[in-house]
Amino acid sequence: MIERTYTSEITEAMDGETVSVAGHVHELRDLGGLVFVIVRDRDGLIQGVFKEDREPELFEQAEELGAEDVVRVTGEVTESGQAPGGVELVPEELEVIDEADAPLPLEISKDVDADLSTRLDHRGVDLRQPEVMAVFTLKSKLMDAMEEWFQNEGYVDVETPLISKGGAEGGAELFPVVYYEQEAFLSQSPQLYKQILMASGFDKIYEVGTAFRAEDFATSRHVSEISMFDVELSYIEDHHDVMDVQEESLRYALRAVADEAERELDELGVDLTVPEEDFPRITFDEALDILEAQFGHFPEDPTDLDTKGERLLGQHFEEQGHPAFFVVGYPGEKFYYMQDVEGDDIASRKFDLIYKGQELSSGGQRQHDVDVMKEVMAENDVPEENFEFYLEGLSYGTPPHGGYGLGIDRLVQKVCDLDNIKEAILFPRDPTRLTP
Ligand code: ATP
Ligand code: MG
Repeated sequence: MIERTYTSEITEAMDGETVSVAGHVHELRDLGGLVFVIVRDRDGLIQGVFKEDREPELFEQAEELGAEDVVRVTGEVTESGQAPGGVELVPEELEVIDEADAPLPLEISKDVDADLSTRLDHRGVDLRQPEVMAVFTLKSKLMDAMEEWFQNEGYVDVETPLISKGGAEGGAELFPVVYYEQEAFLSQSPQLYKQILMASGFDKIYEVGTAFRAEDFATSRHVSEISMFDVELSYIEDHHDVMDVQEESLRYALRAVADEAERELDELGVDLTVPEEDFPRITFDEALDILEAQFGHFPEDPTDLDTKGERLLGQHFEEQGHPAFFVVGYPGEKFYYMQDVEGDDIASRKFDLIYKGQELSSGGQRQHDVDVMKEVMAENDVPEENFEFYLEGLSYGTPPHGGYGLGIDRLVQKVCDLDNIKEAILFPRDPTRLTP
């Protein structure tokens, strides 16, 4: 390894020590006889101070540098009131490791807002901006903590196929793939497989995976390739057990971000509040009542909340100090959700988690009785042949179970307060974007 110290490790206490930093030339400030070379590594910035009268050869070298060249600067750590971070380097050596072409397609160091499409066209360069990279170092910490919660609770980490014969949700939103001589599709959700694994006796599982949706959208919350965090657990009493898991794991992950991603939150200008109180759980009918009474809003489809409805409900609960809440009991649900249960005051045991005014996940208690499921399928004209492997998988003894699928990209978007979900994805895919 090339010897270097991360900028985050260099503190005022190291005054007088010699260190090497390696990174990109973030900014050059030539003041005539004095050049500030600001070097950026993954963690931050540090400035090297090159003076003509102090070290003329190094000064000359510094004057030749270009923005985004990759360099290694070795020098003495010196406390400085004016320097960002309180320390600067008095250089002893400057190595140019790789020169960058000029001009750059995007400004890195100056606060010039390029439109999102241009940024994504040059994503490799766009990601160099500290506030853009911060999204992904934060995401890494967030999802590490999320997995940690599930590992601590004894969940098994699984992988299900990305190429499948059909989808959980049906035809129109599937991407076809050429699979030898057969018709196949990219997976839209691991749900059916998760349920078969419950029948197998895995008891508690999670999967960090990818799902594909061939939706023709132009929204700020949809993409074609999604990162999903999927969970399934057995021997639940009802859907509340599933919501408990979602609530506790999300709180744990958000706490970890608040504690361990201070630098990133600061870079992003986000003031993250961890929802410590219980997330409200309202029924679908109560949600409609709030929308009507408070906002005079009626969702177009009376069996679902629309984007505006979610946003308005989000506003309603945010004002009461609840950024996250569940809506429970959607009517007209798919055959795989438990529904019309005697004694329930809800149409189904399906819930959505809404966080900062946007749906983050859908889940609920599943129907584990295959005979009941077949009846519901028949009533809704769902052909059994499309689900043979699934029905077979559940027919030899299945414990009561439930789970959910959380959209990781939407979670990151909301935690980081980003306008568009694509900003939360390194190389996003949408109906018109296939590169980079
Ligand atoms: P929406 O109604 O917002 O389009 P959905 O109800 O169709 O979402 P689900 O099938 O419930 O989505 O998928 C579970 C989760 O996966 C969603 O709550 C969301 O976080 C995420 N998700 C689904 N589709 C997309 C998409 N096209 N882009 C980004 N995230 C998505
Ligand atoms: Mg949903």
